[in-house]
Amino acid sequence: MKTDIQIAQEATMEPIKNVAASIGIEEEDLEFYGKYKAKLSAELWDKVKDRPNGKLVLVTAINPTPAGEGKTTVTVGLGEAMAKIGKKALIALREPSLGPCFGIKGGAAGGGYAQVVPMEDLNLHFTGDFHAITSANNLLAALLDNHIQQGNQLGIDPRQVVWKRCEDMNDRVLRNIVVGLGNKMDGMVREDHFVITVASEIMAILCLADNLADLKRRLGKIIVAYTFDGKPVTADDLQATGAMAALLKDAIKPNMIQTLEHTPALVHGGPFANIAHGCNSVQATKMALKMSDITITEAGFGADLGAEKFMDIKCRMSGLKPDAVVLVATIRALKYNGGVPKNELNEENLDALKKGIVNLEKHIENLQKFGVPVVVTLNAFSADTDAEKEFVKTFCEERDCEFAIADVWAKGGEGGVELANKVLKTLETKESHFHPLYPDEMPLKDKIETVAKEIYGADGVDYDKAALKQLAKIEELGFANVPVCMAKTQYSLSDDQTLLGRPEGFRIHVREVYVSAGAGFVVVLTGAVMTMPGLPKVPAANNIDVTDDGKITGLF
Ligand code: ADP
Ligand code: MG
Repeated sequence: MKTDIQIAQEATMEPIKNVAASIGIEEEDLEFYGKYKAKLSAELWDKVKDRPNGKLVLVTAINPTPAGEGKTTVTVGLGEAMAKIGKKALIALREPSLGPCFGIKGGAAGGGYAQVVPMEDLNLHFTGDFHAITSANNLLAALLDNHIQQGNQLGIDPRQVVWKRCEDMNDRVLRNIVVGLGNKMDGMVREDHFVITVASEIMAILCLADNLADLKRRLGKIIVAYTFDGKPVTADDLQATGAMAALLKDAIKPNMIQTLEHTPALVHGGPFANIAHGCNSVQATKMALKMSDITITEAGFGADLGAEKFMDIKCRMSGLKPDAVVLVATIRALKYNGGVPKNELNEENLDALKKGIVNLEKHIENLQKFGVPVVVTLNAFSADTDAEKEFVKTFCEERDCEFAIADVWAKGGEGGVELANKVLKTLETKESHFHPLYPDEMPLKDKIETVAKEIYGADGVDYDKAALKQLAKIEELGFANVPVCMAKTQYSLSDDQTLLGRPEGFRIHVREVYVSAGAGFVVVLTGAVMTMPGLPKVPAANNIDVTDDGKITGLF
């Protein structure tokens, strides 16, 4: 069997200008990064902004397991299938982070015959957006420490610096560090921290900003530290905003690439869904809606994280409204949720499937709470049996969801036609009554509890003392009306990654809370979740290589 990278490398790509032309984007609105990648010009938005929107379809999934779910694969395959049946479709994805690429998961360009290409470029440096975000983040950190060094006019308390440096790599030794060691000219000694770039507030800002002016406004509001008398210090206070925005001026333009079948895809922004808000950029999504009949976008990890934040953060802030949700499951993952060990997932096991399908059930119920029609799809694996598929189909139809098998990994767009037709039928026959889960004016603690109880199925929430103090302070600073960005393990509906299926009788433990004033949300860290991942014992990096003539291998 061919690997993802082998399939991708065998593909013949169309020049990106042809792909763009297929949805009516002219060459003068493209900024080329080689032959197969382009950014969309800022002027394009002004030309298309008064057009009506197409339909917006969100792809999400059950809780991830080591068995694999395949949201990106299904998103790409569904886009290709829509194109196959004559719809003008545009795919809107996130850019991959180097952390998982060299860690456990590998790349994030889809899989099999449902991939976007060039996959090596996308998984590595792509158009430099993450570099720009990292640089803007670390410029702000450098200006902050320099301010303290040069007399500290603002009275920043070095023990209350909240801005962290960032890097797009899994590197656990940088979670807690000491900076400024040496002599007087080497800076003020203080404890510091790194987060992975995809958890940086700048990443969130880039993804939520409407345009460059909005980006600047948001950057300026970032709170970097507190003064000795407890007042917030912002990026504007440090006169950092202009220079940061200058670094980001190209990064905020959406990138266009293509699928293996030359369907256009906008791939832009990349916050993780467990520790950040998990959605591609608002600009790319809005652009896609103007340029196509159907925009298919993916939110990260399970629907308890990515989809909840798509609805409660991205859609709430931008005015976007999903018309339907595609919920991806696999027989393997459902059996895993029913207690089957990873090496026995290829055997038919209806009892385990019945036991594990409660995870899918909870996600269906959750998505229906947002008023959006749900289509369930099984991402087909070769070991799935007819009896297992039939069981899942009946289960979904009894819950008012359309159901289809997606065989896009093996067959590309052709394997997604059944799903595409079910999505179209849903768009035509079921109206979306989208609404976020909670209102803006609900107190922060009630918002956290609403998500914990309604989405995770928890009995309630427990707070560390420090978290309670932080919440009080955030409300006092005037941020009571913003949404919450929950940071939680992706593996369980609870904050304990070992609880599979549909856990009950548990509570959510909130450790830390901080405001991302520029992004416009409050981050809530639960359980043991970390904003800087580590590498596994055998990192994927060990198998990645490049031949003497420049061909990359081992990236999957
Ligand atoms: P997600 O977006 O949910 O994280 P991806 O679409 O990136 O998942 O898929 C993860 C991995 O699983 C990829 O390497 C992909 O090739 C593989 N995969 C996805 N679907 C299938 C399938 N139906 N059969 C075999 N492998 C698959
Ligand atoms: Mg994905």
